[in-house]
Amino acid sequence: MARSHHTLFQHQMAAFESAPAADARTRIRRLKALRRHVLAYRKRIQAAIHEDFRKPRQEVDTTEILPLLLEIDHAVGRIHQWMKPVRKPAPLVLGGATWEVHREPKGPSLIISPWNYPVTLSLGPLVHALAAGCPVFLKPSELTPATASLLQNLTADLFGPEELVTVLGDSKTAQELLRLPFRHVFFTGSPRVGRIVMAAAAEHLASVTLELGGKSPAVVAPDADIEVAAERIAFGKWSNAGQTCIAPDYVLVHEDVRDALVAQLVEQIARRFGETAAERAATPDYARLVSVPHGERLKEILVDATDSGARIALGGHYSAEERYMEPTLLVDVPPDARIMQEEIFGPVLPVLSWRRENEVVSQISALPPPLTTYVFSRRRALALSLGGRIRTGAICENDTLVHFANPHVPFGGLASSGVGRSHGEAGFMAFTNEQTVMRRRVGGRLGRLLAPPWTPFKSRLLEWVLRS
Ligand code: NAD
Repeated sequence: MARSHHTLFQHQMAAFESAPAADARTRIRRLKALRRHVLAYRKRIQAAIHEDFRKPRQEVDTTEILPLLLEIDHAVGRIHQWMKPVRKPAPLVLGGATWEVHREPKGPSLIISPWNYPVTLSLGPLVHALAAGCPVFLKPSELTPATASLLQNLTADLFGPEELVTVLGDSKTAQELLRLPFRHVFFTGSPRVGRIVMAAAAEHLASVTLELGGKSPAVVAPDADIEVAAERIAFGKWSNAGQTCIAPDYVLVHEDVRDALVAQLVEQIARRFGETAAERAATPDYARLVSVPHGERLKEILVDATDSGARIALGGHYSAEERYMEPTLLVDVPPDARIMQEEIFGPVLPVLSWRRENEVVSQISALPPPLTTYVFSRRRALALSLGGRIRTGAICENDTLVHFANPHVPFGGLASSGVGRSHGEAGFMAFTNEQTVMRRRVGGRLGRLLAPPWTPFKSRLLEWVLRS
């Protein structure tokens, strides 16, 4: 282990243990400073993410900076309320005492973030940790090096090492950090690494929040507005070139409207990125893949799909040199093709059709629970029915991705799509230790009635308590 990480951790833990938890004013001051700094760094953030995977700067504004500012503003406005001790009632037999739940910081926490939204998925959890009063070690992804080193500068301007240490490095560095006895580990990334993180946290019995991934379906009903469905699926799928944890991974469309939807999706691709393959390859409005191995995996699953009978309705062009994969539509995809077994995490959209709702349920339930299920329909019935029949982190009707940005609702998955919740108060709670504080009045003598010596009267009283 890098000696300095260990020393810095000990320093952070000692500073945390030796002082009272930061008060609400201090936490708000830190969050406001972070907000100002993110805005001051805005152009540099756009440039760094562009350097890392050519993400368009407007997309950086809408999908990185805006959700982060919404989280900060939400937390700033509610910290006083979140920190307030909550009075609780008690059963009659436990009367004569007051009961409260206090919300205390858990302590030094580790945030490990992925590359795909390198700013909001690093600083978002940081907002929650700061709101909860926890010091932090932050390890951004090595796959977006320009953004990671920018984050290190940005955070070093604002926080001393007793508040925040940003560590650059790869999986080895992450594993070294995971050996330190953090009180909470907040991990965003793949289910495979999520398992490693949870096992490492178990060594110290640290609590975990795991924001993972999976195959989020988009279900299109026969009564859906097909043009709107295509527009919003296109937004969710081809923002960030499909490299989004809650991107619609595949489409399940009713067979009566399948051809209409495919035609509208083709139209959407043309409208957003260009009519021809050459125009699409040249547009500045479309991000690149993060790495060559990532591109090679996508190409492999695409070839596997076409070898098993799927047909490319549009796209399919891939250039390793450019780390470019064209927005791609796949139809006639056999459900046992590899592309229907693993998270795609790229710009390929398989379209499968269904006739009866049961087929939708069995297709979704055959895979691990998705992070989000999208439903496109004019009526609520299908979404409500699916909500009761499948396990999913969220249901989003007639739109995609936007539920991520609302700090009023919790965000997360279950099983391989995630453990725990983040955003807003749920994010604050992830870093918070709920401390029960009970205060018995000194003069109260009721307790003696249920203690030895067990006289006949006390025994009868006990019988009565248990029966009443
Ligand atoms: P990843 O799991 O490969 O890496 C995430 C982080 O873990 C990086 O910082 C990396 O350095 C570290 N890491 C990698 N291997 C490790 C190991 N063996 N031990 C310890 N740490 C290790 O994920 P990624 O490729 O950066 O991101 C893609 C995945 O993240 C997708 O599955 C996606 O669905 C998921 N994701 C989820 C959310 C969410 O909010 N639920 C958001 C974005 C991405």
